[in-house]
Amino acid sequence: MYKTHKCGELRPEHVGEEVTLAGWVNRRRDHGGVTFMDLRDRYGVVQIVANPDISSDAHKAADAIRLEWVIQARGNVRMRPEGMENVSLSTGEIEVEVIELRVLNPAKTPPFLINEEVEVEEMLRLTYRYLDLRRARLQKNLELRHRVVKYIRDFLDERDFWEIETPILFKTTPEGARDYLVPSRVHPGEFYALPQSPQQLKQLLMVAGVEKYFQIARCFRDEDQRGDRQPEFTQLDLEMSFVEREDVISLTEELFTKLVEKVVPEKRLLSKPWPRFTYQEVIDRFGRDNPDIRFGLEIVDITDLAEGCGFQVFERAVESNGLVRGINAKGAGAFSRREIDNLTDFVKEYGAKGLAFIALDEQGVFRSPIQKFFDDESFQAIIERLQGEPGDLLLFVADEHKVVHESLGQLRLHFRDLMNLADDNVLAFCWILDFPYVVWNEGERRWDPSHHLFTSPMPEDIPLLDEDPGRARGQQYDMVLNGYEVAGGSIRIHERELQEKAFELIGLEPELAKERFGHMLEAFEYGTPPHGGIAPGIDRICMILAGEPNIREVIAFPKNQTARDVMASAPSVVEEAQLQELHIAGLVDEE
Ligand code: ASP
Repeated sequence: MYKTHKCGELRPEHVGEEVTLAGWVNRRRDHGGVTFMDLRDRYGVVQIVANPDISSDAHKAADAIRLEWVIQARGNVRMRPEGMENVSLSTGEIEVEVIELRVLNPAKTPPFLINEEVEVEEMLRLTYRYLDLRRARLQKNLELRHRVVKYIRDFLDERDFWEIETPILFKTTPEGARDYLVPSRVHPGEFYALPQSPQQLKQLLMVAGVEKYFQIARCFRDEDQRGDRQPEFTQLDLEMSFVEREDVISLTEELFTKLVEKVVPEKRLLSKPWPRFTYQEVIDRFGRDNPDIRFGLEIVDITDLAEGCGFQVFERAVESNGLVRGINAKGAGAFSRREIDNLTDFVKEYGAKGLAFIALDEQGVFRSPIQKFFDDESFQAIIERLQGEPGDLLLFVADEHKVVHESLGQLRLHFRDLMNLADDNVLAFCWILDFPYVVWNEGERRWDPSHHLFTSPMPEDIPLLDEDPGRARGQQYDMVLNGYEVAGGSIRIHERELQEKAFELIGLEPELAKERFGHMLEAFEYGTPPHGGIAPGIDRICMILAGEPNIREVIAFPKNQTARDVMASAPSVVEEAQLQELHIAGLVDEE
């Protein structure tokens, strides 16, 4: 037997017992002819002592041992001498006096310290991911992720859900990204597409009479990488039959409320039940459909006051059907001109042409280069609308709708970070409802689905699909947590005719629709129950629960920012013979 006990479990009640431990050498020091080592396994660290008076062989062996060697130690648990206890260690009251020491495997000097939380360049961490994963931070994240998934499985099992696997080699299942393709060897010139989500398959499981399905599903999307994106990621994919929007929302809300209370009890939910907003409301108040509602600084509309106010920049925005909106950055009234210029540069990145400001110092005196353009009454009315008080900084953007929302939405988050306005220990979940069914894609001059192809419009808005598609709302719901969209779902279309109409609306030619989704259309003719579902992103949720800045920290073997596995070096060049076998030889140009 390699070990009788876990390193981290030994306590004073084990004193007098002979134990066998195995693990990695976390620290090592020689002191007065005696070698002290911290032995680490997944459960913690314990001090072991090799004293030549007890065993000269063990002491000799200890002499050669270095950090991260894997060793086995047999010895007796005893209390540490008085004054030598280590209160920061759960095993800190005891130590193990070694009788026998065996080296199971030596280790080269690791490229970075495993036993300390020091900053290590990410490229190096990813190259030696198996060493990085040994460190306390990532061990904690792996465990948290396990707990989250386990909680989900148990919760859904208790509510009659079946966990069903769906194929990875499949056909295009679009969620708005590019597909990953896999060439077929047996069918020359044909390709599988990796699913961007199991969307079609879970709906077909509803046609199949499963009624309640879930899966911890891997999804593949070939899109440009950002901080919280990976080419493959994991969703809790879930679908239910005979449900309305409320059924899916309340089940999901109960799941994550209870999960948080059980798995991360140290965190606080901002509110229970979770607030719900319409899409329009969050755009108006927070500038974006994934709002961080842990703090205020809400956006205030002054378009009505800006009309005829005297300041041409504002007036012109109103005349061209734009908006004038602002935020009151409480307590930033003393920002220097330079600091305000930085804010202006910041909003310019989001398309704003400028940032108008009114600073109120502690005495309530204004500092505002635009004041001179306004008539007094309008100026006062604007300050009042934003509830400006001494010490505040009022900031305004006047532009077309999208620019105003985006720049002020981002500026609000910028202030959150700048002034530490959001508490990391608070989890602010909310629901966003009543999304537009389709959004206009100016570049391609067509309507795009706001969620995906299979989402149902609001029943009362179906006539609008012909008359005024931009005004139709979809039966879509998004779950947002601390400013991240962490789930999206919808009630689906379950009738062939309406599905065909939806395809037509987004410009999918009937022939192409049949080729890609003929199986769905056909299935809808064989008795399809009304159904709907949702897909919470496991990576993002774990990232937020773990307080990590990006999803790579909660994925065991993530790709880097350019979609590369730098540890195994993937993607990689393959043998010409393999390409031939797959009938794609000669397609790849040598650069
Ligand atoms: N398939 C959707 C997604 O991946 C989620 C859903 O509608 O259930 O975003």
